[in-house]
Amino acid sequence: METTRMNAFGSGLKDYRMLIDGELCAGHEWAVSDNPADESPLGRIAVAGTDDVERAVSAAERAQPIWATRDVHERAAALRELGARLLARGDEILQLEVRDTGNTIGKMRGDLAGAVHLLDYYAGIACEIKGETLPFTRDRLHLSMREPCGVVARIVPFNHPIYFEVAALVGPLMAGNAALIKPPEQSPLSSAILGEVCAEVLPAGLVNILPGPGQTTGDAIVRHPRVRRIAFTGSVPTGMMIQRRAAEVCVKHVTLELGGKNPMIVFPDVDPEVAANAAIAGMNFAWQGQSCGSTSRVLVHESIHDEVAERIVAGVKAMHLGDPLDARSQMGPINSARHYQRVMDYVAIAKDGGAHCAAGGKRPAGSAFERGYWIEPTVFTGVAADMRIAREEVFGPILSILKWRDVEEAIAIANSTEYGLAGALWSNDLGAAMKAAMKLDCGYVWINGAGGHFTGMPFGGTKNSGVGREECMDELLSYTRQKSLHVTLSGV
Ligand code: NAP
Repeated sequence: METTRMNAFGSGLKDYRMLIDGELCAGHEWAVSDNPADESPLGRIAVAGTDDVERAVSAAERAQPIWATRDVHERAAALRELGARLLARGDEILQLEVRDTGNTIGKMRGDLAGAVHLLDYYAGIACEIKGETLPFTRDRLHLSMREPCGVVARIVPFNHPIYFEVAALVGPLMAGNAALIKPPEQSPLSSAILGEVCAEVLPAGLVNILPGPGQTTGDAIVRHPRVRRIAFTGSVPTGMMIQRRAAEVCVKHVTLELGGKNPMIVFPDVDPEVAANAAIAGMNFAWQGQSCGSTSRVLVHESIHDEVAERIVAGVKAMHLGDPLDARSQMGPINSARHYQRVMDYVAIAKDGGAHCAAGGKRPAGSAFERGYWIEPTVFTGVAADMRIAREEVFGPILSILKWRDVEEAIAIANSTEYGLAGALWSNDLGAAMKAAMKLDCGYVWINGAGGHFTGMPFGGTKNSGVGREECMDELLSYTRQKSLHVTLSGV
């Protein structure tokens, strides 16, 4: 279990451990995770070294074949028990997660429930992992079957750690695999609670949780020759690096859920007030815009552009920033010092590129915001499609407003970036919206909505936003490999 004791830093921080082979372990090293709201240290997390990765892979290899032979209903029952125990510790997880990420508590309440909902979904459809029978060819039978991949590695980003970590293990486990989870370095603490619950409920070695820096711990997992299935969620450059590094070792099945610069196209027939509210909601300011699905490019028809822009700016200026644990706060701090610098750099890039900063762009005034990684929610107007702020993912609370005249022009702008994760269309003309949806080069389209996922609907990107689909049957099947049986029925 976690302990609080004087540590190497002499500050009595609480220790959070990793999980290897059913044991909650210390590491050779520890890393301190701080609270982005005030930069105070929150706790220290064990860092997994290369030898820990090796131990975890061996433990997973021992556990997996036994787990795979357990009846699918038994596997489902074990995972449901895991979900129930996580929910029972929901408040503890929520408090820690909010302090460790800076995301506001109101919206974060849904994260654990959403992950357990996905768990339930996979537990429910696991019987659908099945093969096919092809018609006889005279005296032959052709069958296919699905087998688990073995050891599946999941590497997750910082924006919704507990959601992604729980979601990361349920698909692989229901398909009969063992899992290695690499939590994000900046917000790793809740992964230790997940580790404790896994140790209580699941066989030793089936799930191993290995915190540590991406470039060392993550890389050791990616390059491990006996980890042949990797599912990664994170940025485009890291995703591309993982593909390269994995391919240097052996042939691996790598799926990637990567970044987005998602457009929201507002047609001229939309009420400007409705459009402005939708644009603000789509930006996910409650977690500082740090969401792959944020609609960070709002493309508004010229006839209503000024009215919509005015309302967006007014709405964003009225937002309440504050302690993310306070339910009244609509936005908290940026997740880490490193990421704060990235967001601030993009404010400068946008200004240098000629965009007009109509709201935010700086640290908020007041003593509450002197420490920590705070920036006001930010809106740029006068953004042209070729500016860097319109083309590159910031992954922060910066919304850009662009203007369009002709729908083909709007679609061309929407499709003009390297990304293709999601897009939103707002119109009262469903036919026009559907036609536009079919032309958007991305994996997920909202019509008169933004941000919502529906379990069972494939989520994932085109172009550099990734390869593979999650939250659906395809994801579950992606943790299996097919084997074909070609059976001759006559005697030999
Ligand atoms: P990131 O820097 O790419 O990191 C993601 C994960 O990869 C972290 O756990 C990181 O570890 C690890 N990592 C870094 N370098 C690695 C390496 N060489 N080998 C193996 N692992 C490595 O992304 P982030 O800043 O955490 O997250 C933001 C990005 O994720 C955005 O681009 C966002 O759009 C994307 N995202 C996509 C989705 C989706 O569903 N498509 C969902 C959420 C987020 P450390 O942090 O410890 O270095």
